[in-house]
Amino acid sequence: MPEGPSILLMKEDLLPFVGKTVTEAGGNAQFDKEPLMGQTLHEIRTFGKQTYLVFDESAIRIHLLMFGSYGIDEQTKPDKSLRLSLFFKKGSLYFYTCSVKSVDLEFLDTIDWEADIMSDLWNPKKAEKKMKSKPEMMVCDALMNQDIFSGVGNIIKNEVLFRIGVQPESLVGNLPAKKLKELIAEARNYSFDFLEWKREFVLKKKWLVHSKKVCPKCGEKLVKKQTGLGKRRSFYCEKDQKLY
Ligand SMILES: [Zn+2]
Repeated sequence: MPEGPSILLMKEDLLPFVGKTVTEAGGNAQFDKEPLMGQTLHEIRTFGKQTYLVFDESAIRIHLLMFGSYGIDEQTKPDKSLRLSLFFKKGSLYFYTCSVKSVDLEFLDTIDWEADIMSDLWNPKKAEKKMKSKPEMMVCDALMNQDIFSGVGNIIKNEVLFRIGVQPESLVGNLPAKKLKELIAEARNYSFDFLEWKREFVLKKKWLVHSKKVCPKCGEKLVKKQTGLGKRRSFYCEKDQKLY
């Protein structure tokens, strides 16, 4: 599943269409596309793994889910995968195998933009408060909680916990105050490293534990286990990551 940094790269690709007016809209997403015609794309906003195309009267929310993708100026996948196509006077956009919904502009005001790990509005203090209100939560679930760390996915979770030496099943309430702050800071730091590495096509090479077998620090075998309520794959070193 694409994580927040990948969505930011998608935003960069879509930015040239801002200011342009839709001449035609299609695709098999279940909503009326007719009203989009004649509307101007004003802004592209991202929130975690979601992208909002903001038009005059409504916005389109796109979530790439597990296998979603997008294309520009050329339809490269069959009609049955095409959820939304947008044509402009010059150029076109295609969104495949993803969730596409039309939302009211008012809906955008209900989003807690400060919870977006990649945003300029990111508010670490707020994240800390939210975490402290859930002391029984495992840190692996906390990092994947999109209300707290919108945009963080499984790769970021695994790498951040290795960086700070915390075992994924540790309880939030047991983390020393300093570790808690470190976790929040590294979630953002790693997300920006992820963005740069992805841009340079070296992301996978930079993984230290995610999908790996051996700890790069001590050489011991890594544990691979589905952890937390979310039952997502965790990779960790029992020696270098402490269970709190
Ligand atoms: Zn180790």
